[in-house]
Amino acid sequence: MILKILGCNGPYPAPGGACSGYLVESDSGRTKLILDLGSGTLSRLMENIASLGEIDAVILSHLHFDHMSDVPVLGYMLDFSDLETLKLICPETPAEQRKLIKGKFDVYPPADTVIGEFKIEFVKVRHPVETYAVRLSCDGSVLVYTGDTNECAEISLFCDGADTVLADCGLSGGDWSKSKPHLSPEKCAELARDAKVRELILTHLSPRYDPEELLDEAQHIFPNCIAAEPGMQIRI
Ligand SMILES: [Zn+2]
Ligand SMILES: [Zn+2]
Repeated sequence: MILKILGCNGPYPAPGGACSGYLVESDSGRTKLILDLGSGTLSRLMENIASLGEIDAVILSHLHFDHMSDVPVLGYMLDFSDLETLKLICPETPAEQRKLIKGKFDVYPPADTVIGEFKIEFVKVRHPVETYAVRLSCDGSVLVYTGDTNECAEISLFCDGADTVLADCGLSGGDWSKSKPHLSPEKCAELARDAKVRELILTHLSPRYDPEELLDEAQHIFPNCIAAEPGMQIRI
């Protein structure tokens, strides 16, 4: 499968950047999934597809705005498309944010499923609102997206043996503590090492930090690590 980074910032974008959003395609190109669609990611998605009909489903890890704020605008686009509906998998809470998603979306709660060539699994992780990590299996490879989370047994088990983990590196080591809502470079690297994954991608990068410093911190523990950049394509 191919992972395309539409945006990799959180909780707000860097200059010229975008918040969390990823396009994942099967090798054949026949199945395309969107993981999160935060602010600024819809325009990047448009650079990668000819029409919305190419998208099999949109999957939201949680309903914080840096992961879903382009979804209502996607709803406008859907209104003007020939599609009857677009499948959207997202948590049911917080109710206030959930109410913002309306129109021609065919909405399902997160539950293990198969869409096209992808097997899709979910696990609830540790964040202040209902949040899921997503495990995608396709073309003999496994990608885990952690969503937003701090350390928890659920995410450790879920990453076990994955080829690639796309991990929430929302805090620097200095700012991280057990009670915070995100991982740090060190915690992402320990997660990847302990789960024996092949490759780690740091994402949800805060504009407050230098990505090179975050990467350096992680690579001390897990060398096969990169920091996500908008427009980056990774074969998994
Ligand atoms: Zn976030
Ligand atoms: Zn969040």
